[in-house]
Amino acid sequence: MDCIFCKIANGEIPATKVYEDNTVVAFNDLEPQAPTHILVIPKCHISSAAEVNEENSAVIAHIFEVIAKLSKDLGMADGFRVVNNCGDCAGQTVKHIHFHLMAGREFTWPAG
Ligand code: AMP
Ligand code: ZN
Repeated sequence: MDCIFCKIANGEIPATKVYEDNTVVAFNDLEPQAPTHILVIPKCHISSAAEVNEENSAVIAHIFEVIAKLSKDLGMADGFRVVNNCGDCAGQTVKHIHFHLMAGREFTWPAG
């Protein structure tokens, strides 16, 4: 399978990693939309949020533990945004589930 985020997870493609453990990697987004813009992904390939199930959801829970840790370690006390785009209409361009962790500016709602 030709998946760019699997390749980042296994080190085939370089990325600026800010966190890594046995099951999760977090790295800087190539096109940051905020002063801090990190992508948090499972090392295992899950194509989207629509494919989360009781077999693979433990790593998704762990991703949110990692997000909480990063928010403290990287100084996001003023707040942060977590975004998951699922499917083409939502703008998912990489078909390996990922959570955008963004901070360092004010965010509007909805969108932007
Ligand atoms: P999405 O549109 O939700 O699928 O988000 C995909 C994100 O991956 C975008 O914000 C891209 O800038 C980012 N991206 C794509 N390729 C890379 C890469 N090689 N390294 C870091 N970020 C990437
Ligand atoms: Zn993948």
